[in-house]
Amino acid sequence: MRVYDVIEHKKNGRSLTNEMIDFFVRGVTDNSIPDYQISALLMAICINGMDRNEIFYFTEAMASSGRRNDLSAISHNVVDKHSSGGVGDKCTLIIGPIVSSLGIPFAKLSGKGLGHTGGTIDKLDSVKGLRTSLKYDEFVSQVQDIGIAISSQTGDLAPADKKLYAIRDVTATIDSIPLIAASIMSKKIASGAANILLDVKCGSGAFMKVPDKAFELAETMMDIGHMAGRNMTALVTDMDQPLGRNIGNSLEVIEACEVLNGKGPDDITELCVALSAGLLKLSGYRPKVSYADDARESINNGRAYNKFRDFIYAQGGAFEGSSLYPIFRNSSKYLFDIKAEESGYIFAIDSQSVGISALELGAGRKTQDDDPDHSVGIVMHRKTGERVTIGDRFMTLHYNLADIPEEAVRIARSSVKISVEKPVLKPMILKVFESDMT
Ligand code: URA
Repeated sequence: MRVYDVIEHKKNGRSLTNEMIDFFVRGVTDNSIPDYQISALLMAICINGMDRNEIFYFTEAMASSGRRNDLSAISHNVVDKHSSGGVGDKCTLIIGPIVSSLGIPFAKLSGKGLGHTGGTIDKLDSVKGLRTSLKYDEFVSQVQDIGIAISSQTGDLAPADKKLYAIRDVTATIDSIPLIAASIMSKKIASGAANILLDVKCGSGAFMKVPDKAFELAETMMDIGHMAGRNMTALVTDMDQPLGRNIGNSLEVIEACEVLNGKGPDDITELCVALSAGLLKLSGYRPKVSYADDARESINNGRAYNKFRDFIYAQGGAFEGSSLYPIFRNSSKYLFDIKAEESGYIFAIDSQSVGISALELGAGRKTQDDDPDHSVGIVMHRKTGERVTIGDRFMTLHYNLADIPEEAVRIARSSVKISVEKPVLKPMILKVFESDMT
């Protein structure tokens, strides 16, 4: 078989055969196919799409390009969760402890952030001493011992996806539903949980900007999960403004602690209760009151936060005295307030711009080899629909360089639109897709 013919086949709008997909994924994994031919096929897929069988087979081939875990050894009700990427999204740090405190094992292999979206591993890396690269055996025994572990994806988890993702990132082939679905689901299937919850983000800070596209992505991933024999739930949720008030690694851990203590912002608390309820239902948990009420109660009675502390200690982090927050590696040196130049309502916040501003402050990576500054970021004092008076600070930038990066200030300032008109707020949860488990 020649790669040229596979590219030609897809260019002409035809479905790839299983043999073609195997041949391509093998060649990507063993580096025998050059990047320019990989890029050409990715672009042809981007333009001509893939049918369900192709996406499923492509997903399976990528999942099998490296190690495949089977978490059923721990228990049949282990749950995993994945967000398609957003700004201020620290939900994993909140819902993991919630469901685990209710007896459901939470085992998650997470990624680092790239571009304007944050990654759970970077947030956890802000905690002094905390280990985010657990060996697989250690990961499994921690889930068995305390009911929760979050570790970084190792290089042997879906290595074909890792290579394809890096090429997609620089060839304008990220925003393709078949490619995103196969990329996310290959890692989830290889991670080995029987029950998978997807949080598909929709809006200005997400890959899917409009609901119809987000619904299509959610449905595609649900189908792929079912074809692979997994129980699936997907929530399509709003990412038109950053989630919560804190953006940046240690700032997001701080906010996660606040939510787990019942002191967090309403939007992220509401979303985390809904995601936890989805995970509980998926796992076969029998609710005492309702899935959502039980999740809320685990916050109110302190069990979820205690589980969070157990998790931080188990992975090498610590707390000082009675502090609510773990000890961080470092804290930012300087603060810069952005103030309102007019009075009115916060009409819209462009999440992607807020994420890019945080990136300019050093919170993320512009290339995969960058080392993020864990202490910098942005605190939003006002969110969409809230009032500001001229001169009020509505954002504070946390930074470390002697001179604040001007670009970060410019982008942050222009990300917020103030208007005399009160905006109509979108619901946090746009749609729920569930497996029929009868
Ligand atoms: N997250 C992934 O893991 N892959 C994509 O393609 C997009 C978001």
